[in-house]
Amino acid sequence: MTRVYLALGSNLADPLHQVQSALDALAAIPATTRVATSSLYRTPPYGPPNQPDYLNAAVALETTLSPEALLDHTQRIELEQGRVRKDHRWGPRTLDLDIMLFGSLTLASERLTVPHYDMHNRAFMLLPLLEIAPDLRLPDGTALAALLATLDSSSIRRW
Ligand code: ATP
Ligand code: CA
Ligand code: CA
Repeated sequence: MTRVYLALGSNLADPLHQVQSALDALAAIPATTRVATSSLYRTPPYGPPNQPDYLNAAVALETTLSPEALLDHTQRIELEQGRVRKDHRWGPRTLDLDIMLFGSLTLASERLTVPHYDMHNRAFMLLPLLEIAPDLRLPDGTALAALLATLDSSSIRRW
C-alpha cells in the first residue's frame, strides 16, 4: 500500500458538485481506498485572472496501483466530468486532479512528475494538504509546513 496525496481543483459547472462527484469517483478506483479529505477552499485563480474562483481540496488515498495506473484513473475521472483539454495550462476547468505525492517516490516521466513540480509554490495545494497531513515532508525531507510558511495564503477562504 502506498499513501498518495491528490490536489482537486474546479472552477466551472458548479464546483461543489464537481468535487463531490470526484470524491465518490476516487473512492471507487480499484485497489484504492480514500482515507482522508480536507475542507473545501475558495481561492483566486492561478494564472489568467479573468476566470471564476477555484474550489481546491486535498485527498489522501491508499493504493496498490502504480503511479501511471492511478494517473489513468484520475484522467478518466476528469474526462468523465466534462474536462475539455486545452492547449494552454491554467485555464478554467470542470475538474483538475493532480498527484502531489506518491509515497516517498520521486519520478519524472513524460506523463508524470512526482512530487508535483510546482506544489512548493502553491499555497492552494499546500494548505489543504497540511490540514490532512500536518507533519508531511517531501521525499527530500523538506517539511511542507516550512514551505507554506514562505507563501501568502491570505486570499484562501473556506468554500
Ligand atoms: P499544472 O500541472 O501546472 O497544475 P494543469 O494541471 O492545468 O497545470 P494539465 O493540463 O491538467 O495541467 O496536465 C498536463 C499534463 O501534466 C497531463 O497530461 C499529465 O500527463 C501531466 N502530469 C505530470 N505530472 C503530473 C502529476 N503529478 N499529476 C497529474 N498530471 C501530471
Ligand atoms: Ca493543476
Ligand atoms: Ca492537472
